[in-house]
Amino acid sequence: MPELQTDVAIVGAGPAGLMLAHLLHNAGIDSVVVDNRSHDDIAHTHRAGILEAGSVRMLGADGVDSRVLTAGHRHDGIDIRVDGISHPLDFPSLVGESVWLYPQNEIFVDLAAARARTSRPTFFSVTDTSLGDIGTERPWVRATTADGDDLRISARYVVGADGSRGPCRAMIPAERKEKFFHEYPFAWFGILCEAPPSHEVLIYSRSERGFALISQRSDTVQRMYFQTPPDTEAADWSEDRIWTELQARVAGPDGFELKTGPIIDKTVLPFRSAVHEPMQHGSLFLAGDSAHTVPPTGAKGLNLAFADVSVLAPALISAMTHDNAEALSGYSQAATRRVWKAQNFSYQMTRMLHTDPDQDAFETRRSLGELRSMLESVHGRRYLAECYTGWPDD
Ligand SMILES: Cc1cc2nc3c(=O)[nH]c(=O)nc-3n(C[C@H](O)[C@H](O)[C@H](O)COP(=O)(O)OP(=O)(O)OC[C@H]3O[C@@H](n4cnc5c(N)ncnc54)[C@H](O)[C@@H]3O)c2cc1C
Repeated sequence: MPELQTDVAIVGAGPAGLMLAHLLHNAGIDSVVVDNRSHDDIAHTHRAGILEAGSVRMLGADGVDSRVLTAGHRHDGIDIRVDGISHPLDFPSLVGESVWLYPQNEIFVDLAAARARTSRPTFFSVTDTSLGDIGTERPWVRATTADGDDLRISARYVVGADGSRGPCRAMIPAERKEKFFHEYPFAWFGILCEAPPSHEVLIYSRSERGFALISQRSDTVQRMYFQTPPDTEAADWSEDRIWTELQARVAGPDGFELKTGPIIDKTVLPFRSAVHEPMQHGSLFLAGDSAHTVPPTGAKGLNLAFADVSVLAPALISAMTHDNAEALSGYSQAATRRVWKAQNFSYQMTRMLHTDPDQDAFETRRSLGELRSMLESVHGRRYLAECYTGWPDD
């Protein structure tokens, strides 16, 4: 296969990579996208589900034709239960915003279809992705296509939108980067089940038995989680045991009962926070999980990936159309401002809602005091609502 020339080579066809490719295309900037997973594999992977209002607006970009507003569900709040007592947060009255429930795999289907309509190349199922010359103005990406051909992409810029385990981040020289990392002493046991929704909005529940999240995916499939030790084996948990544990963590004097059904997926998610700075070096720019991961408590991962792109796309467009490379120099600094706000919120929600088996009784009661301080004050509720629905652009 001949060498492809493009403006921007994008590694990763997740939310960050495909949204970036689309915004660049709308501005007349060419890109080539590669991903080592197949289209069907990504389209059937269940991950994030809650979109900030700003992310929904990005899906409204010309030509995306997203179904978020027709197939998604607007959520005007969340319910935070503390020892069985419900504390609803009403986002519109607190901050004038809402969030949307629209699964990540549907976002992928929308963005991949939009990309296909542009007729610009996206190579799925590649292997052996590598990149180089990122310190020059002619960096490259290479891979082997699904047909076994050598793919060579020569670009002006390379964007690493390759998730937390991709190869791009490692290309930034060790002496130029710093990693900030935090590991939590628990994981989430997540299930997908075939059942109707148990509630109209997400329930975040703190109980003496630990945390539980009751979230939705669609009218017929639901996503629920409960806090568990990191070494938990999903196979050790029967359906009965899972439902008993989930119900115990949301039970309260209001008699709230979960709607149950067959469990179709079980996973254990380790809880980690990481930020890699800077998010750029030479002609390489990182976006999304390749530069930062958050625990899912604040529903920020996918939203941050889109937020990075909302900063990176205009900078790349300015660099390419006005020969203004300077526009890119402040990308990492601008993006990480929001990243650290999201890290703080995710950490705070995690610490306030979970109980750490190894923490002393003082810390357990202190974190409960922190949660009550937030929920019992309109200023605290407004703070939580603003963080959850997403900060206005910096
Ligand atoms: C189980 C799970 C549940 C989650 N739940 C939530 C949630 O409820 N809310 C939330 O906000 N976030 C959640 N997240 C996080 C969210 O899914 C991510 O933050 C989001 O996918 C980030 O998008 P991205 O485009 O940066 O990376 P990704 O979606 O990871 O996309 C990166 C792409 O790069 C590709 N890639 C990797 N390596 C290579 C390579 N060598 N060559 C070519 N391509 C490569 C991958 O195949 C992938 O398609 C969850 C994550 C997981 C794993």
